[in-house]
Amino acid sequence: MLRRVREQQFTPIVEEVGLEDALGRVLARDVRADRDYPPVARSVRDGFAVRAEDLPGEFEVIGEVRAGERSALQAGPKQAVEIMTGAPIPAGADAVVMVEHTTREGGLMRTERTAKPGEFINPAGSEARAGRAVVTGGLPLTHTRIAMLATVGCLRVPVYRKPAVAILSTGDEVVDAVQTPLEFQVRNSNAWALAAQVKHAGGEPRPLPVARDVYAHTRELVERGLREDLLLLSGGVSAGKYDIVEQVLAGLGAEFFFTRVLVQPGQPLVFGRVQNRFFFGLPGNPGSTMVTFEIFARAAVELLSGIVEPQLPFLSARLTRDFRHKPGLTRFLPAVVSADGGHVTPEPWQGSSDVPAMARANAFLVVDAERDFWPAGEWMPVLLQ
Ligand code: AMP
Ligand code: MG
Repeated sequence: MLRRVREQQFTPIVEEVGLEDALGRVLARDVRADRDYPPVARSVRDGFAVRAEDLPGEFEVIGEVRAGERSALQAGPKQAVEIMTGAPIPAGADAVVMVEHTTREGGLMRTERTAKPGEFINPAGSEARAGRAVVTGGLPLTHTRIAMLATVGCLRVPVYRKPAVAILSTGDEVVDAVQTPLEFQVRNSNAWALAAQVKHAGGEPRPLPVARDVYAHTRELVERGLREDLLLLSGGVSAGKYDIVEQVLAGLGAEFFFTRVLVQPGQPLVFGRVQNRFFFGLPGNPGSTMVTFEIFARAAVELLSGIVEPQLPFLSARLTRDFRHKPGLTRFLPAVVSADGGHVTPEPWQGSSDVPAMARANAFLVVDAERDFWPAGEWMPVLLQ
């Protein structure tokens, strides 16, 4: 089913931002090295630059070269140049002996070490050749890639525009979170969860008013939502008498790619296209909304934001206790992963409405549909929150 999402054509638009605003944005074009990295051979240790063939033994120290300067020194036979990390290797030298492996007496340096030519030297162009792509388009910009862009002097960064994602919650019982709900009402937590998830996935959330469970009102708001790049609906996709979301979408001529997934929380989950816009009808139970967004809709937001290969943050951890569950559906159950990431403990929960359990958890335990028992110590897949 996730494949059905990934195989659709999403077309992002390019804009330019300053490097200071580029974190989390998606690079729109390859950025290339402006020169060789390093531009000249450099020492990767503090020590002495020598000719490898002269090692070991006693050397005449003919001077020093610091990081940030060019040296006119030339290392001849049995001569050494004191050198700092990052400094250019002087002519003649082809190895560096670490200062920790030497003794110094006046103008002499002594070492027991041997070295191969090239030891502790990064040759010119060994990290990247001039003109080579150092960050490729379609990658989200992390601090490591921002460092790379700064290294090559790319301070105006071509990125994809963030997709605008309409969020439409449905349900006669759902009230705005600023209101105090009556005992038969619930605050609209889904709009908040989805807005946070959309932002996290690189989108710009556009919440709409809550749609009442009547055809005309829902249709009007769906039409508004379809002006954005993607429409997320929550609620109204199950089998209840007033679950009219699919009917409204069908009335607008929607094409449905799927209307159900064998996942809990989840099950009813609608993905399709109408008026050249993609939409997801997510189940309304808060746990289901959050989980189905993560495993299905997030990929669509990421593809729209230009990410070439959306990834889910899975890891493996060992169960801290025996675990049983009814088979039949792949389940994503709230769980706590230990600080070292090695262990996972399922969190007691009352089902898809149990937001408190999900808020205590930091991950979802991924439970195989085919089995019903897992002993303590077993490795289980875990999806990080
Ligand atoms: P539905 O999918 O419309 O049948 O809703 C399933 C359950 O989720 C019901 O108990 C709703 O009250 C609850 N629910 C639906 N929408 C929301 C929402 N926006 N925020 C919080 N809970 C909701
Ligand atoms: Mg409903």
